[in-house]
Amino acid sequence: MLRVVSVFERLGGEFEEVVFAHDPPTGLRAIIAVHSTVLGPALGGVRCFPFDSEDAALTDVLRLSRAMTYKASAAGLDLGGGKAVIIGDPRTAKSEALLRAYARFVDGLAGRYITAEDIGTTLADMDVIRDETRHVGGSSPSRGGSGDPSEMTAYGVFLAMRAAAREAWGDASLDGRRVAIQGVGKVGSGLAAHVKNAGATVVVADVDAGAVERALANGADASVSPDAILGAECDVLAPCAMGAPLNERTIPRLRARVICGAANNQLARPEDAEALARAGVLYVPDYVVNAGGIVNIFEEFQPGGYDAGRARRSVERIEQNVQRVFEAARDRGITPASAADALAEERLREARGAGAAPSMR
Ligand code: NAD
Repeated sequence: MLRVVSVFERLGGEFEEVVFAHDPPTGLRAIIAVHSTVLGPALGGVRCFPFDSEDAALTDVLRLSRAMTYKASAAGLDLGGGKAVIIGDPRTAKSEALLRAYARFVDGLAGRYITAEDIGTTLADMDVIRDETRHVGGSSPSRGGSGDPSEMTAYGVFLAMRAAAREAWGDASLDGRRVAIQGVGKVGSGLAAHVKNAGATVVVADVDAGAVERALANGADASVSPDAILGAECDVLAPCAMGAPLNERTIPRLRARVICGAANNQLARPEDAEALARAGVLYVPDYVVNAGGIVNIFEEFQPGGYDAGRARRSVERIEQNVQRVFEAARDRGITPASAADALAEERLREARGAGAAPSMR
């Protein structure tokens, strides 16, 4: 017999609020998930994507909003975790009217959720949303926003890589190291410049030949095919493309001692963290590494508004955060991925009052 899963069962004892936003005149069908506001307002991007089903959209937004709670907590920010999805093809579904309708739903949450850019949405979209609500991060500087966060994200990845180098080789310097970057888009290209300046040899790969050309013109030393980058001979591998590059098929091929990149959800399954440790690979948990963007957006909501210098100094804390994760991993005999989760959960528990937090997973 078919067993119907109730809505609240689906939320598994987590998630403070899930809003189904529907605006028939514009065709808007969106879901906003507020996972936690324990540490502060729930910040997370809005993804516009042609999901196969409403169920797939709900699964994704719940998973992504929970991940934002961990990211904000591990970064030491007074922010909670949230995320939104707009169901539709970004090339055809998005219109100014639809974005405005979406923004009014965000505004209705009165600051419990702050939206931002994600896959399928752009800076220009954030500017439209800003017309309807102030609860948006990463709009244009002319609108009071902090603009594209990619450069701050790239800077944070570079600093995380220094902490990883210190852990792996006892020296934070990347001078003379070989760094392989998978995906030289907005973050990967910025990262390539940072590691090159630090004296590393840079090898890149991208499915977009133009992106590879630009990276080489900007100082990268060599390129390999997208299929070869994960198995490239290198000291550090930086996944800066799309999800789950690390899985049971790719882990045996890795030649890197350290993995430290910007991509979200680098591990196909949580147990892949143990497989990496067994293979002698130091994996730096993705959400600790790539927090520069969210740290940057957080700065917009501080007294006095956004200040680039202050934001940069805040991003610099990522190096210590990564170091703290390694220390916790060593002290507790667990992987850095488990240590990052544990530190994020501990901070949430403390904020809630000792022992009061339900398990986050
Ligand atoms: P982007 O789209 O600008 O760049 C991604 C690049 O990866 C593109 O050039 C694309 O052609 C390339 N690519 C895609 N599949 C590939 C493959 N199989 N092999 C090699 N290259 C491939 O995106 P971005 O903003 O640079 O973000 C990169 C990653 O970092 C994403 O996973 C994103 O979610 C994550 N991230 C980005 C930010 C940010 O501030 N932009 C913040 C946090 C996390």
